[in-house]
Amino acid sequence: MLQKKKKNQGFTLVELIVVIVIILILAAVAVPSITRYVQKSKIAKCANQRHELATQFQIMGTDVPELALCTLEGEVENILKKDVLDYMIENGYCSQDITVCPVYNEKYELEISVENGQQHVEFVCQCVDSVKGYVSTCSKYYNEIIKNGNKNPDRKDLLSKVADEKGFMKVSDSIKSSTLFKDKPLYWKPYFLADGTMALYGTTNSEGENAWSNWNAYLIYYNGQVYQSTKKNGTKPTNGNIASMNGIKKETMEEYLKNHDFEKVEK
Ligand SMILES: [Zn+2]
Repeated sequence: MLQKKKKNQGFTLVELIVVIVIILILAAVAVPSITRYVQKSKIAKCANQRHELATQFQIMGTDVPELALCTLEGEVENILKKDVLDYMIENGYCSQDITVCPVYNEKYELEISVENGQQHVEFVCQCVDSVKGYVSTCSKYYNEIIKNGNKNPDRKDLLSKVADEKGFMKVSDSIKSSTLFKDKPLYWKPYFLADGTMALYGTTNSEGENAWSNWNAYLIYYNGQVYQSTKKNGTKPTNGNIASMNGIKKETMEEYLKNHDFEKVEK
């Protein structure tokens, strides 16, 4: 009788341990899902901000009509005489806080494309699966490699970094559809010119040890434009070798591409 009473006075050590274990299990389940929830809401917030900025850009087009005719981002900057987002903030089209991606904490970049003669404006960040976003990520990695004191980085170092941290981006069907390589699985890989300017080359192997064993390119993305190899293997279109592109700078790139049988792909 006496013993039984004593037993009911509190928790035993075993009971306490069981409770603690249950709490720990619940926490282990809850914390990642809370983190995921926060991440998801940030991504949603980013999408809203990008949408709002694109809308405001259209509104700005009624005040500055030349903007509606722009087909390249650089033209917008020439008209506004400054960075488009800075202009939008200063002229009250948006507040500063919506010009930065909440997920990656980076300022958005303007991307203009033309489809069926219609201007399409987008503000992009790394959340967007776009070639431009990928280029900006690759440039960021390149700058990190440079900052670590590496004055003449090997192109393979950048490829390794991108392979490890992001993986190579698939060339989308919408880009491939207007090229000679519609049915070929291709991946974008970064390649920097002698002055650090970033270009991408579209090639077949996606990963693995030999991901950089060749410098064969079917497509090249440079300065907002896609180029395709017009080389032929018999009658079949095939890749061109771009190993000698490493000595090229911004000013000589167009000429290089032309001399190496890469032609512009019309959008
Ligand atoms: Zn974002």
